[in-house]
Amino acid sequence: MAFGWIDEQAELRRRAGLVRTLRPRPADSPLLDLASNDYLGLARHPEVTAGAAEAARSWGGGATGSRLVTGTTELHGELERELAAFCGFEAALVFSSGYAANLAAVTTLGPHGSLIVSDAGNHASLIDGCRLARGVTQVVGHAHPDGVRKALGPHEGPAVVVSDTVFSVDGDAAPLTALAEACREHGAGLLVDDAHGLGVLGDGGRGAPYGAGLAGADDVVVTVTLSKSLGSQGGAVLGPRRVIDHLVNAARTFIFDTGLAPAAAGAALAALRLLRREPGRAARARAVAAELHARLTAAGLEAVRPDAAVVSVRAPSPEEAVRWAADCRTAGLAVGCFRPPSVPDGVSRLRLTARADLSGAEIERAVQVIGAARP
Ligand code: PMP
Repeated sequence: MAFGWIDEQAELRRRAGLVRTLRPRPADSPLLDLASNDYLGLARHPEVTAGAAEAARSWGGGATGSRLVTGTTELHGELERELAAFCGFEAALVFSSGYAANLAAVTTLGPHGSLIVSDAGNHASLIDGCRLARGVTQVVGHAHPDGVRKALGPHEGPAVVVSDTVFSVDGDAAPLTALAEACREHGAGLLVDDAHGLGVLGDGGRGAPYGAGLAGADDVVVTVTLSKSLGSQGGAVLGPRRVIDHLVNAARTFIFDTGLAPAAAGAALAALRLLRREPGRAARARAVAAELHARLTAAGLEAVRPDAAVVSVRAPSPEEAVRWAADCRTAGLAVGCFRPPSVPDGVSRLRLTARADLSGAEIERAVQVIGAARP
């Protein structure tokens, strides 16, 4: 029977307790949210939703075509200029998602004959970029600059080192300065995904590369998403103008994809302007993360020390992680639950996001619920 193998896979998944299902989120959810990536609490900010609405009214419900045909509006250009300036880079290019931005960056910077050195903890979109790229990928140990040096050593020809700045599961930061040094010793480029750093790290949320003094360097390229701190949807690549021009001409997820919806561009632009006006939001997200971690640890839970706004709590098994998250939900708290195959090391976790707009009382309540529901 066609697709019969799918039933066999479904059965295996069911037996392993790893079936995933979709659950609509009510517009006015009564749950305390520590599961979303709305780090700065901007997704429903009136200026951000107004930015989306005005953009849709002016430009329509969709971009109407690919960026090179009809899909580029003035808003796309404004967003690219302001995002590049905010993060300290020469130029930026906006994509329909962070996923598409990562596929574009890795495939175009890792061409035939090149070496791509990729951190073992990288996000799936970077891994998929490596799979699609014509260059050869070598995976190195997590956050391991000497492993990077070793990989780059014998290679002749173009090379690029690819890493998340903040790893999405445990929320730990990459050793950016050491990675840049390793790259420079070998004439390699550095490509980092700052999805979880933009809006949280660097002065006023300008991102981890800015914080590490790498912004604007001619050998550094950064990808970001507009869907986390900026509360919108979409992604971008930031870097030297010649790299961005190359992407416009060579990146398949740019050329063959419909442009970012105007509403998403308008929302992201409004959020970016808010962040520029209110730079304290970034520091507040970091402070909430530190407080959450301290309280969880004091309650005897095994939490990873956060470098940004993600706080990860170890669970004994995938089944118990699922039950733990469900019990939190019953008690009014939404938390993320990461388990295989989303976690490469097989260690299941609850994943909490420290939103800048959480109050002290909300943090306390969250820790109380998580502690009471622990397996
Ligand atoms: N990179 C990282 C590190 C991410 O966590 C995500 C989102 N889960 C992405 C890229 C993809 O971004 P988007 O959701 O905008 O496609």
